[in-house]
Amino acid sequence: MIPVRDDLRALEGYHSAQVDVRVRLNTNESPTPPPDAFRDAVAAEVSRVDWHRYPDRAATALREAIAESHGVDAAQVFVANGSNEVLQTVLLAYAGPGRVVATFEPTYQMHAQIARVTGATVVEGERADDFTLDPAEVERVLAEHQPHVVFLTSPNNPTGLVEPADRVQQMLDLAPGLVVVDEAYAQFADWTALDLIDEATPLVVTRTFSKTWSMAGARLGYLIGPTWLVAELEKVVLPYHLDAVKQIAGRLALRYVEDMDDRVAQIVAERTRVSAELAVLGLTVIPSGANFVLFRVDGRDGHDIWQGLVDRSVLIRDCSGWPRLANCLRVTIGTPDENTEFLSALTEVLGVIAIDDQTDFPTEENGADQ
Ligand SMILES: *Cc1c(COP(=O)(O)O)cnc(C)c1O
Repeated sequence: MIPVRDDLRALEGYHSAQVDVRVRLNTNESPTPPPDAFRDAVAAEVSRVDWHRYPDRAATALREAIAESHGVDAAQVFVANGSNEVLQTVLLAYAGPGRVVATFEPTYQMHAQIARVTGATVVEGERADDFTLDPAEVERVLAEHQPHVVFLTSPNNPTGLVEPADRVQQMLDLAPGLVVVDEAYAQFADWTALDLIDEATPLVVTRTFSKTWSMAGARLGYLIGPTWLVAELEKVVLPYHLDAVKQIAGRLALRYVEDMDDRVAQIVAERTRVSAELAVLGLTVIPSGANFVLFRVDGRDGHDIWQGLVDRSVLIRDCSGWPRLANCLRVTIGTPDENTEFLSALTEVLGVIAIDDQTDFPTEENGADQ
């Protein structure tokens, strides 16, 4: 073995248990596929792809379609293989060795992870116990660390909370560098930071086809930002990074916006039902503006509850061992049937695993190994 870069030695990489189960509610995918008409349209166009030629390097047609859907210019759109690659490209261009990236925890783990891979220093601001973000903490982190890039996720993952508009505005007022608003779940929420974008503002908004568009299998994401910033990203990303098939799939998907809106509406309705039922079960439910719900099983062991669900062939996300998320679990909203199966399995598990008064408030010492 040869040694990896010193600064990568302590990194762990991304983990999400992939278990073979009947009900899979752990990665915030859409529970239903895009419409058949979309699949047929993609198949027809793919049959005409010039396989011996490189794809359109600028992904012109796709970027124009995305730009049109948001009422912006195609030169304000950067596309890549999932919004994770969008984030990576942003961080390669604006973070890297000697630079500082700020996050407010708990939030999407990949922001800090990718920043560290680029060699940047990550500073972690803290959210309050209810996972909201105190303006004083934003001010402290920005003033003390002068980050080159600061992240906000709205709705936030894994909490589901929608960030208030004035928190984004505050960051724009105070941040010395780039503000990235990750809107992977924006269609499930009631506002977007897209309206704040202009050429004079160092703000980008990232979106993905993985969630609302039912296209996690395609790996496609994009950002909207100032044209000068998009031009820098184009210098950093690999040539021809976006294959021809993906460019077709993304462009055609946008023709089925009504189907997407219908799926979103159904998930939002189910989110309301699942949240209410979780509260009836006596659990602490974090209000969600996304397609998942974070809840806390106070007085019980979160991992045991998760395992009990797996034993009943229901897989959700076990966040109980993550920093700041003791006894928290996150469930993706599925089809109505899947949600009902999840709720009845959970009811059963809660009946079996009794509340233990001793572990009401896990401490550092006993929280880790339970
Ligand atoms: C799911 C998710 C993404 C999506 O990443 P892709 O690479 O587009 O699949 C990005 N940001 C957040 C906060 C997410 O939860």
